[in-house]
Amino acid sequence: MIKTDILIIGAGPTGLFTVFEAGLLKLKTHLIDALPQPGGQCSEIYPKKPIYDIPAFPEILAGDLVGNLMEQIKPFEPGFTLGERAETLERLEDGTFIVTTNKGTQHHALVVAIAGGLGSFEPRKPPIENIADYEDKGVSYFIKDPEVYRDRKVVIAGGGDSALDWAIYLAEVASEVALVHRRNEFRGALDSVERVSELAKLGKIEMITNAEVVGLRGEDTLEQVVIRHKDTARGEEFKDADDFIPLFGLSPKLGPIGSWGLEIEKNAIKVDNSYDYQTNIPGVYAIGDVNTYRGKLKLILSGFHEAAIMCQSAYQRIFPDKKYVLKYTTVGGVQGFDGSKKEAKREVVQSIG
Ligand SMILES: Cc1cc2nc3c(=O)[nH]c(=O)nc-3n(C[C@H](O)[C@H](O)[C@H](O)COP(=O)(O)OP(=O)(O)OC[C@H]3O[C@@H](n4cnc5c(N)ncnc54)[C@H](O)[C@@H]3O)c2cc1C
Repeated sequence: MIKTDILIIGAGPTGLFTVFEAGLLKLKTHLIDALPQPGGQCSEIYPKKPIYDIPAFPEILAGDLVGNLMEQIKPFEPGFTLGERAETLERLEDGTFIVTTNKGTQHHALVVAIAGGLGSFEPRKPPIENIADYEDKGVSYFIKDPEVYRDRKVVIAGGGDSALDWAIYLAEVASEVALVHRRNEFRGALDSVERVSELAKLGKIEMITNAEVVGLRGEDTLEQVVIRHKDTARGEEFKDADDFIPLFGLSPKLGPIGSWGLEIEKNAIKVDNSYDYQTNIPGVYAIGDVNTYRGKLKLILSGFHEAAIMCQSAYQRIFPDKKYVLKYTTVGGVQGFDGSKKEAKREVVQSIG
């Protein structure tokens, strides 16, 4: 059982900044995210796009914003459960919580902060009848650690950037890589398409276009994929494979959070924005894109602000007898759990007038 003060569901920009605000209050945090990497929409949808409305950053790439947040929270040593979806929330008699993921990982927390954005990003699965039987037995929808595929026979399906980029990467790792796409043209970046064609000419990737994977075979684990060609003369092909990785993109869904007894309005969680972004379940907060209230702006800066307020309220809930006095970081500095210190510097402040 993983134990923490604040369990943050969602490691998007809001969840990541919550670690910092909680850290200033000496509260421990742990994050769960369904995706294999932190950053939420910024990492998953638009890492290379510049954002222009982050205060004091005239322009910053979404991926760099996530990188900076990761750097900023490092001293507070957050724990991560990545690639797992928070599935159930149980409120114990003492008012604390147990959150269990779809893979059975249990987390015990004094307070829960839902920073789930648009919801958990679920992979779009191809309509293959027995695909669920091979999940984690050869079929995966994300690549968490490419080394897992070393010297294995891998079949990737898809025509976007993700499928192309991973085919290129795994060409150097796996013993065989086949890329199956239902059209002749790919949707991904031109230079990636060119690179895949070069690797195909070198015999490092087998490109199978105008075809789809329609079946999976194997005793306990995956052994073969069935590929159907649009060209009826070629019919069906049985290809030996240790791994099948369909990369057809992700779609966000509020998912299991929707059945936790929270008040939901238009696919978002209603919160008390007159005070602390708490939900109708005491001790459960909802911050960032996942919440709704009158006048809500679904922007990164709203999530940052809500995280700061929410952490102050969580502190009062955890330590009802202690009074916390807000300290500027310029005055109090930042002391990490690892002993690192960013000292407040004594400088003469010039007064005007
Ligand atoms: C193309 C695009 C451009 C944008 N441009 C801007 C901009 O210029 N400026 C701006 O301010 N905003 C912009 N936004 C919006 C901005 O990205 C969001 O406001 C921001 O990402 C919200 O952060 P968040 O942390 O609240 O949620 P998200 O970034 O959505 O992160 C939520 C995370 O929670 C995880 N999650 C959800 N449910 C579960 C669960 N049950 N278990 C485990 N994990 C779960 C998800 O996997 C996800 O990683 C843009 C959005 C898009 C799509």
